[in-house]
Amino acid sequence: MPDGAYVAKFVIAVDGPAGSGKSSVSRAAARALGFAYQDTGAAYRALAWHALQDHDDLDDPAAVLSSWDTFHYEIGTDPDDYFVRVAGVDVTEAIRTPEVTAAVAHIAKLPEVRARLVQLFRTIMRNTDAPGIVTEGRDITTVVAPDAEVRILLTADESVRMARRSAEHTPDSARESAEALARRDRADSKVVDFMNAAEGVTTLDSTHLDFDQTVQAVVDLARAAN
Ligand code: C5P
Repeated sequence: MPDGAYVAKFVIAVDGPAGSGKSSVSRAAARALGFAYQDTGAAYRALAWHALQDHDDLDDPAAVLSSWDTFHYEIGTDPDDYFVRVAGVDVTEAIRTPEVTAAVAHIAKLPEVRARLVQLFRTIMRNTDAPGIVTEGRDITTVVAPDAEVRILLTADESVRMARRSAEHTPDSARESAEALARRDRADSKVVDFMNAAEGVTTLDSTHLDFDQTVQAVVDLARAAN
């Protein structure tokens, strides 16, 4: 077994841009399949939150990595019990603020940070008790779990993604404008290409699908691969 590889679980990897619905779709698909669910963006957000608490210079890899030792991260992978904690502090809501959202891109572009988080994600995938796990993010199909049983790029037209995002009523939805969402996609896509499906990755375009149809499409892909 190669070092750091995940094992023995049926893995569904889902990537996509901001507002593609990948979190809610992945969580609902996990629930339908009796699988665990991992939101990897939460770890980038939680690390940014933690580094902000420590007043680190977010563009300085050494400063951000100095916070790593105290980054005791926990995430709920039961689709019905979602939480994010850092050193026992519940940050589920705190990591969704515009301040954290704006800070994440700074740490997400640091290769040292990404390498450590990739290992963390694989550990979480390995440790789940569920028969499978849906893991979603930006680089899951390509870097975190390139040999996942099912690999999906979930997309939707930009106007549809923006409309869905503003209807979500997340704490930051009122303030995270369409421009901010597009800006975030632009910054993120300089780090990993999640706008184009890698070889072997199925593009699921949800522009003309409703939520239930999109979840069903993920479930169907999982059943077809089983
Ligand atoms: O998915 P979410 O919008 O919560 O992700 C927050 C940020 O974390 C993204 O904008 C991106 O900068 C970063 N991210 C990443 N790779 C992932 C997941 C998230 O770079 N696999």
